[in-house]
Amino acid sequence: MSTHALHDMTVAELSTALAQKSVSAVEITQHLLARAQADTSGSFLNLNAEAALAQARRADARRAAGQGGALEGVPLAHKDIFVTRDFPTTAGSKMLQGYRSPFDATVVRRLGVEGAQDDAQASGGAGMVCLGKLNCDEFAMGSGNENSAYGPVRNPWDATRVPGGSSGGSAAAIAARLVPAATGTDTGGSIRQPAGFCGITGIKPTYGRASRYGMIAYASSLDQAGPMARTAEDCALLLSAMCGPDPDRDSTSLDVPAEDFTRHLADPLEGLRIGIPAEFFGPGLADDVRAALETALSALEKLGAQRVPIHLPLTELAIPAYYIIAPAEASSNLSRFDGVKFGHRTPNPVDLLDMYKKSRAEGFGAEVKRRIMTGTYVLSHGYYDAYYLQAQKIRRKIADDFQNAFQQCDVIAGPVAPTVAWHLGQNASDPVADYLADIFTLPASLAGLPGLCTPAGFGAGGMPVGLQLIGNYFAEARLLNVAHRLQQVTDAHTRKPQGV
Ligand code: GLN
Repeated sequence: MSTHALHDMTVAELSTALAQKSVSAVEITQHLLARAQADTSGSFLNLNAEAALAQARRADARRAAGQGGALEGVPLAHKDIFVTRDFPTTAGSKMLQGYRSPFDATVVRRLGVEGAQDDAQASGGAGMVCLGKLNCDEFAMGSGNENSAYGPVRNPWDATRVPGGSSGGSAAAIAARLVPAATGTDTGGSIRQPAGFCGITGIKPTYGRASRYGMIAYASSLDQAGPMARTAEDCALLLSAMCGPDPDRDSTSLDVPAEDFTRHLADPLEGLRIGIPAEFFGPGLADDVRAALETALSALEKLGAQRVPIHLPLTELAIPAYYIIAPAEASSNLSRFDGVKFGHRTPNPVDLLDMYKKSRAEGFGAEVKRRIMTGTYVLSHGYYDAYYLQAQKIRRKIADDFQNAFQQCDVIAGPVAPTVAWHLGQNASDPVADYLADIFTLPASLAGLPGLCTPAGFGAGGMPVGLQLIGNYFAEARLLNVAHRLQQVTDAHTRKPQGV
């Protein structure tokens, strides 16, 4: 096999090649490391060739001994919001510059190597090889990866545009064929929207299916980890390794056993009822996005699915509700970065209070400060009832609306964003413009439902358009099935940006 094609191979293809011994994990790792080292898009915040090659050698040895599962030796990279022992972890913030975690996040361990000698809970791990850490918005707050303290990421389809956010580095690295797969986190859309903007596949599972242990917290009642890759099949492979209870480490981890999410990929779609929410296809949706979605939905109809008109009446209120609840939780979560417990400490404070103030002023970026202030405000005496409590009531009603909708349909389809990826700097003086663009991803997040993005086609400027599929709780396998069948009859997910 020529190494030329290695970066074009999917996780499933690499897995087969490794099983057939036509390529080694070390060869794949070296090839991808060289590409990542030469990359100028800003996707990687750090690479660790030594650690990656050590993992690859271990994977080759395990495969040679007949051990290891499908993912053994397949490379990936992690969003820099997951703590890792082998790499620094920054969460895209100056606050954590140089921070090195003494342990790996549960998701990192499950995808990689569990059972280091000092770990009593050792139990395997999928054996994937981690190349490094990927850029993201600071503390995962953003929709374009422009809030990273380490610079923006450029969209591989058009370097003047954002890759989406907050998992922008993950999406861009996959689209640019630097890695076949990556982890992302999704609080209000950060897996689905960058997947859409970069023309790849990503899934946010039901809240609680993947452990949040070691995932630096943004808004704990919403944060969820998920895989990003080029195909639904690859996402299914990774998700199967990522999920499962973690009762001792994450109190919101659900007591639902891990599942083989590849099992139903090929199921037929005959009779599938796809709910089309009127509120997702209103005048705010750009024509090019609407047209690409129409093509994908027609392809699903040809596979036997039928469209059912539905309503999600509170869609618009998802924005204010989310932008009250998420900052409220963030303001509490980020209080630990005070220069003492965690994070940057100012060099020459006059006294203790000055140390707190300056450390936080220097460590956090503008968007993070904005959210801490909003969050503190909506939780303060006198405003709690007016804002936070109201937002929680809306959140409940949005979840109820989904349950009503799922009486009429099996999955819900819509856009991930109203437009294709916007230009870098376009919303620089208007943070609310970014917030408004989250309208189609926030409802499922507030309800804790699983959501997937699969390439639908291309819009203005040849930019990718994503189709969002939302399922009921624990319907991940169904979402992956629908996306997989669509990918078998369409080719948007196989297209490459020019020059890649
Ligand atoms: N864009 C949303 C925000 O800024 C979602 C981010 C996320 O899902 N992490 O909060």
